[in-house]
Amino acid sequence: MTLSCFELGERMLAADEAREAVLSLVAGPLPAENRPLAELHGRVLAEAIVSPIDVPRRTNSAMDGIALAWPETGERPVRLRRVAEILAGHPVERPLGPGECAGITTGAPLPEGADTVIMREQLAVEEGADGRCWVHVERPERVRHGQNVRRAGEDLARGRVALAAGTRLGAAELGLLASLGLAEAPVVRRPRVAIFSTGDEVTAPGETPSDAGIFDANRHSLMGLVIEHGGEVQDLGILPDDRAAIAAALDRAAAEADLVVTSGGVSVGDADFTRDALAERGELGFWKIAIRPGRPLACGRLGARGVPFLGLPGNPVAAMVTFLQFAAPLLARLQGRAEAPPRLTAIAEHDLKSREGRVDYLRGVYRGDPEGRLWVADTGAQGSGILSSMVRANCLIEIAAARPGVARGEAVSIHPLFRLP
Ligand code: AMP
Ligand code: MG
Repeated sequence: MTLSCFELGERMLAADEAREAVLSLVAGPLPAENRPLAELHGRVLAEAIVSPIDVPRRTNSAMDGIALAWPETGERPVRLRRVAEILAGHPVERPLGPGECAGITTGAPLPEGADTVIMREQLAVEEGADGRCWVHVERPERVRHGQNVRRAGEDLARGRVALAAGTRLGAAELGLLASLGLAEAPVVRRPRVAIFSTGDEVTAPGETPSDAGIFDANRHSLMGLVIEHGGEVQDLGILPDDRAAIAAALDRAAAEADLVVTSGGVSVGDADFTRDALAERGELGFWKIAIRPGRPLACGRLGARGVPFLGLPGNPVAAMVTFLQFAAPLLARLQGRAEAPPRLTAIAEHDLKSREGRVDYLRGVYRGDPEGRLWVADTGAQGSGILSSMVRANCLIEIAAARPGVARGEAVSIHPLFRLP
């Protein structure tokens, strides 16, 4: 039986249980679209790319020198007649006969009859009086049959899977697609994520806050996270604690978005406008999850299209951590990618505090030492409002619910964070 957001009731949920219920909000990836190469950076392949050609296409030279036939065993040639000059990008005119060789440049196709390239530095050239040109091989005992040759298909053979479905396309993948001669590729439509912040105290940067006001950090962190996780942002701004305004924004999001993410206004004791407006427009569960930071979370579907909805806590660190734990896997599923965040194991540089019965996500800094070990320290104060802890961190340290804490020298699981290089 799959868990659903609405059947989980009032009890405290385990992090994995909550993640599974969030994932059940989407069935699978969004539809595919063909996009040109220049628009593919960061996109996710909807289908595997099968190589239409051999890469390299032709067997070619890895050196400047001569191409020739070289025996695997037996008598080695030492003097050959140079009958052609083959340049990269030019077709080969005729096959080589016995005792013949061709001058060749790096990347140029090997002529028929050649299987080996000897580099220029190992040759002596003799111009004959009749205009013929002879090449002497120095130290022939060092030459190996097949050396300095890149075989057709050695990088990628025609018909082989070049890139798997679900691959996110970065610089290397774009180069590979181009090297196959592909001008476009089928990618999953980018998930459209509607984002808004709630609360009368929340003020847009650039505006003047009231005495009790705070600037809207969350919407901007969340928009960045959406982009980092392959989504496209629909920015719905800041909604005041006003039922009609929230209702209008939710209706718009329910009509256009693939996922709606809000922050603030879901904890018990909040002015409950978001909760009420949500409850009227969809199915909602309000959860307490056994994680820190980020205990309260709302989860459900909105409107006639049943658009998945996640209401994250208002505290800036909690909003980011819950996005990473719950919204990021959902975005991954919408794009047909692996849902589990990448994990590493590191050694604690000092004691790490935690509490049994809940998963703690501490902001951490991991580093490798010269012996090849990975160490992790926390960033200091761990309050869920201390956004500078996220700035200092390069990972989240995950301390499992069953562990009362981590002693210095013990192994602990970490999730590296996306950082711009
Ligand atoms: P809430 O979950 O609405 O009770 O908010 C918890 C805390 O997060 C409060 O201190 C809020 O002021 C703060 N908060 C809520 N929304 C934002 C936001 N968009 N940016 C920064 N802090 C926020
Ligand atoms: Mg609030």
